[in-house]
Amino acid sequence: MSPLMETVGNSPQATKPSAKNQWTETHYPYSRYLEETFGGKTYKIVVASGLTCPTRDGTIAKAGCAFCDIRGSSSYFGKQGRGASVKEQIRSRMPGVEKRFGAKGYLAYFQSYTNTYSDVNYLREIYEAALSEPEISGLCIGTRPDCLPDPVIDLLEELATTHYVSLELGVQSFEDESLLWLERGHDSKCSIDMLAKLRVRAPTVHTCVHLMFGQPTDTEGGPAEAARILNGIGVRGAKLHQLMVLEHTKLADLYRREPFKTLTLEEYTDQVIEFVENLSPSIYIERLSATASHPDECLAPKWSCNRWDPHNKMRDIMTARGCVQGKRLILT
Ligand code: SF4
Repeated sequence: MSPLMETVGNSPQATKPSAKNQWTETHYPYSRYLEETFGGKTYKIVVASGLTCPTRDGTIAKAGCAFCDIRGSSSYFGKQGRGASVKEQIRSRMPGVEKRFGAKGYLAYFQSYTNTYSDVNYLREIYEAALSEPEISGLCIGTRPDCLPDPVIDLLEELATTHYVSLELGVQSFEDESLLWLERGHDSKCSIDMLAKLRVRAPTVHTCVHLMFGQPTDTEGGPAEAARILNGIGVRGAKLHQLMVLEHTKLADLYRREPFKTLTLEEYTDQVIEFVENLSPSIYIERLSATASHPDECLAPKWSCNRWDPHNKMRDIMTARGCVQGKRLILT
């Protein structure tokens, strides 16, 4: 799972948009999904699992996916999690989240790396350790579509019968050329097959697909096609981010050698609108764009360095354009 994934609520940069920004609801927001699911404010507490990825341990590759700067993540194991048990991590982080956000409910968020990439006994141990904390209402587990063997899927479904379990699946793209360019080590068929399997084998698990727009290899119509795939495959949510070029990644080296185009905020918003308007209104959208966790290490696009300015501009453009989730499904 890419470390770009942050919830607004947990971000150290998070402040509310100004009161003048009262947009119409252009899409099904994550906040409403959480309200409907838990009945109140629920926040993620990031937890390091101590696991790695097949693109880092040499199974597929050694240097990670081309865009991934794992050091930027708040659950980077070497920074925060070394030596601390799952319970210790939760207990040390919870007071800060409660104080800052007035949270009433918590989810343990196994965010960085591939948090199903281990034998099923270890996974049961860390997931159950998190769920045994009385304040924890459920799990969010970040992983890859090629790291979910049947025993692990069965464990997730078992846990989901008694607790909320969300699987955050790093699909990134349904375009094979882009997956190659990103050096993901799996193709689109792998993602589609896994989503179809999860729908049947783990129907109680809430699957949220992570997608990235802005690869130079992306084709026109890619966001609409991605939405159409999600509409028919049983996912509960989608989380969007723009391609960012971050220091300490293969993309940074490539960008310096042969600079490639990244999306302007307006171009990225066009892609988001195309996606949203083709997406079923029943699928929540957890995030419209990402923010670089270390702005000084973001080479491009520079608008990724701020959180609320791009968010506010995107919402303004979406509102002005009359964006409504699923609108094109009705028209076509
Ligand atoms: S799977 Fe790729 S994107 Fe996810 S943490 Fe591992 S290297 Fe990074």
